[in-house]
Amino acid sequence: MTETPAPPVVGPGRLFIAGSWTDARDGRTQATVNPADGSRTTDVAAASVQDLDAAVEAARRAFDEGPWPRMSVHDRAKVLIRAAELIERDAQEIGYLETVDMGKPISFSVGHDVPIAAQMYRYFGGLATSELGGATRPTATPTFSYTLREPVGVVGAITPFNFPLLLSCSKLAPALAAGNTVVHKPAETTPLSALKIAALLAEAGLPEGVLNVVTGPGTELGRALVAHPKVDKVTFTGSTAIGQSIVRSAADTLKKVTLELGGKSANIVFADAYLDQAVEDAFWAGFFNSGQVCVAGSRLLVQRPVYDEVAGRIAERAAGVVPGDPLDPGTYFGPLGHEGQFRKVAEYVEVGLADGAELAAGGSAYHSEQQPKGLYYRPTVFTGADNTMRIAQEEIFGPVLTVIPFDTEEEAVALANGTPYGLASGVHTRDVKRAHRMARALKAGTCWVNTYTQFDSSMPMGGYKSSGYGRELGPETMESYTQTKSVWIDQRD
Ligand code: NAD
Repeated sequence: MTETPAPPVVGPGRLFIAGSWTDARDGRTQATVNPADGSRTTDVAAASVQDLDAAVEAARRAFDEGPWPRMSVHDRAKVLIRAAELIERDAQEIGYLETVDMGKPISFSVGHDVPIAAQMYRYFGGLATSELGGATRPTATPTFSYTLREPVGVVGAITPFNFPLLLSCSKLAPALAAGNTVVHKPAETTPLSALKIAALLAEAGLPEGVLNVVTGPGTELGRALVAHPKVDKVTFTGSTAIGQSIVRSAADTLKKVTLELGGKSANIVFADAYLDQAVEDAFWAGFFNSGQVCVAGSRLLVQRPVYDEVAGRIAERAAGVVPGDPLDPGTYFGPLGHEGQFRKVAEYVEVGLADGAELAAGGSAYHSEQQPKGLYYRPTVFTGADNTMRIAQEEIFGPVLTVIPFDTEEEAVALANGTPYGLASGVHTRDVKRAHRMARALKAGTCWVNTYTQFDSSMPMGGYKSSGYGRELGPETMESYTQTKSVWIDQRD
């Protein structure tokens, strides 16, 4: 076992409303639980709808009367870029919080998620100074006509449990850069990094009320935030079913909504691929973050001449994984994020077996002397499956990879596009023309060629079909955090 750094002390979490840390009005709290061993890390405030109201009121006031939306973009950029520096300063602590909250290996929390989070604040701070300009338009009328890009108002940001830090920063950084104010509701089971980021943004100089964080019962608070008449926009990342309910509810107040939803992405390996790299990518596409990745390549489509070899090598690789304590810097495969997720994975493995798929690796929980408790599930590979099975159609959101054969390029496209989802896709081939053909043919918001799970603040991500609408990251996301005003100024003498 590699040496573990001394853990930081994690104090109880309070609500962050109008620039102050407060308890829930009725004093309720709830525990945050470490999925690696079931221990209680700390307590956080369990907000009520009244607390949420106070957070929305604070954000409303900060938007309607406060300095943030009126400040120059350069001054807003300074705050966001300072926040990036503070995130880097506290990288170890943030990574630790993320790991004890959701079970992500510390090497990924600190080495992957924290640097990308810092990059997002820098990128959107910079983008604020270049992307928020309007345009002058040559009209047929005797007017001087131009457009203004203005912030939308109060943004309700609702985030899931699997990348608590990154998926909140990918909303907060552009929303704030554009001059909005925000009420953030993190996932019920993973609130700790959101509270830390609020503290860092305040330290960076974010005025009071511009960001408010409300922790507690997810369904109750999420519903109230979406229905709230003083919230102008909801940005949601989570499951497709809850995304659908959000659209229904938001219709009553005609809120603007962007949705980053579930996926069942196909990662396609052609027989001409560099197989060593394809197998490596397919392993991580399926098992990074214990498979709890919206864009996970959970369907591995393999061309028949190399099917046995690829399926065999993936199964062997998966079978060799020993799940480890996520706080051990040597661990790369940790536990699942919470109890419900663990049960869901186990149930889907039963479904796969009942539907006739063959278990080539995993298929059971993992415990050892060092890890007697904890939500560890072995990386699982199904072969002998077809695309109509539930394990190939439904999002499992865990370490379960289904390997399916195909013969022709046309069949690969049909199989890849043959689910209600359209979040991401992967193609492994040495044929550059095929790579371009496939990138166009796949109905998904992202296509990775000879790689998988790459992210950058500058590249938009989002869904086709039931995987949502709107885009996060890149200049494209600024569209959804701004609205355009047309100004006509009469020029007649
Ligand atoms: P979830 O849908 O259960 O919860 C997401 C968030 O919604 C949480 O904060 C939760 O408290 C809140 N919520 C619950 N009920 C609500 C309601 N009725 N109204 C409003 N908010 C409500 O998702 P999860 O289990 O936390 O995360 C996994 C899901 O998220 C998967 O489907 C995954 O694919 C998806 N996801 C998508 C992306 C993407 O970028 N497309 C990224 C990560 C995760």
